[in-house]
Amino acid sequence: MKQYNNFINGQWVAAASGDTFTNCNPADTREEVSVYAKGGKGDAQAAIEAAQAAFPGWRDTTPPARGKILSAVANNLASRQSELAELLCREEGKTRVEAGMEVGRTVDIFRFFAGLSYTIGGSVVPHDLPNNMLYTKREPLGVAALITPWNFPIALPAWKLAPALVSGNSVVLKPASLAPAMTLEIAKAFEEAGLPAGVLNVVVGSGKEVGDELATNPAVQALSFTGSHEIGQGIYQQLAPRMTRAQMEMGGKNPTIVLADADLDYAAKIVAMAGYMMTGQVCTATSRAIVEESVADEFTEKLIAEAQSRNVGNGLTEGVNMGPAVSASELDGNLEYLQIAKDEGAEVLWGGDRLTEGDLEHGHFMSPAVIGNVKNSMRIAQEEVFGPVISVIKAGDFDEAINVANDIEYGLSASIITRDINKAMRYTDRIEAGVVKINQISTGLALQVPFGGVKHSSTNSFKEQGQSAIDFYTRIKSVYLDYSG
Ligand code: NAP
Repeated sequence: MKQYNNFINGQWVAAASGDTFTNCNPADTREEVSVYAKGGKGDAQAAIEAAQAAFPGWRDTTPPARGKILSAVANNLASRQSELAELLCREEGKTRVEAGMEVGRTVDIFRFFAGLSYTIGGSVVPHDLPNNMLYTKREPLGVAALITPWNFPIALPAWKLAPALVSGNSVVLKPASLAPAMTLEIAKAFEEAGLPAGVLNVVVGSGKEVGDELATNPAVQALSFTGSHEIGQGIYQQLAPRMTRAQMEMGGKNPTIVLADADLDYAAKIVAMAGYMMTGQVCTATSRAIVEESVADEFTEKLIAEAQSRNVGNGLTEGVNMGPAVSASELDGNLEYLQIAKDEGAEVLWGGDRLTEGDLEHGHFMSPAVIGNVKNSMRIAQEEVFGPVISVIKAGDFDEAINVANDIEYGLSASIITRDINKAMRYTDRIEAGVVKINQISTGLALQVPFGGVKHSSTNSFKEQGQSAIDFYTRIKSVYLDYSG
């Protein structure tokens, strides 16, 4: 079993209370994976103080010098890719393939921002007068607090951390209690890369204690959160009175529209992949397949066949392509939504059962579900389930399909499967989502373009990833220089 303390001011320290907690493997709860120091408010305060003290020194380093540390972290993580992927599987329940891809993505994220370090500066713009210069200059903000969810436990902390640190901020990071190991492994890599003490601090502990301190402490200059809408909205309200810079990226209820001209075998494959990969525990997962009525029954049969082909089990077992829910309460929540769907008149066409055969009994397993007879007004069509559950919603034509897709509070990712380029382009114009995919799965992102939702999926303030990630972690000064005298 792994043992982790918190990382505060360059030291690995126990919680002030001395409390610890243990995480078990969601695929086999008999296996204890890791034990953690359970931080509280005092530990979060110590981390914020350390970050405050370390900030001036870090701010005064150059972006390329910071980028070199990010490069060293990338190399460290790359050299440990299979070991880290296995730990990720055991703590969060991903399959080996999914975990390997996530660790690989994390390495790429650090490499991307290491390269970008050579471009962080400002721009020179023409002045109205001769012998005058007008330019802009980017500066870090100070202490940045980062709060992350459990579903991408290494890539997600990385896509906040890399731009925060390369821009010159110091950081206090609180990972989700369900899967903190990967964040602490990143912290180890930064320690080995020679990051000065206090520049990165990681405090494990509950959202109510550690998270609340990060949201209310006036020394925090910026807070980037990813998680559920309910929690994100609460934190946003805590930050508003101090006008602290805020970035909340939250849930989704993502549609894939399937038009009558689509290759239905391909469409079913794409929708199943986007709905069931990572056990549906992806913010950009397809949970609503909105299908033109004339092909809806045929598409649904093919989708059921896809669901039936999933091999559910421990992600470390060869041939398994869908792991468990991350926790008993997530599994219970998924099953509860299936009951709500039935109560509202929808029909579970396949799957949605708790799986307990053999060793599955010891994990949080369920079969992937296909739901029919769904009206867009039902809770199963409106609320984020965050599990392997796909609702099929019929639409009369293309325009109705778009209206259904937009008739929702969320707006994260949206896909369309069609051979009609005109309709695909009209879809990109009219769909209310931060990410649009044409003939592709709604999940999966390129790290070099901005990512973020609209509507209730985001504060719609700053994007993550790509070059624009730097905007959140910096402010711009305009400098006027007269050299005519
Ligand atoms: P969550 O329950 O909202 O938790 C997210 C983080 O917030 C965790 O670290 C949690 O800590 C912390 N937290 C909880 N209560 C808090 C409070 N009162 N104050 C401050 N922090 C608090 O979300 P989750 O279940 O981990 O993740 C699933 C959600 O994340 C889904 O809604 C999914 O769509 C969303 N997500 C969005 C994106 C995106 O980019 N849009 C990406 C991935 C996931 P503890 O768990 O330790 O209490």
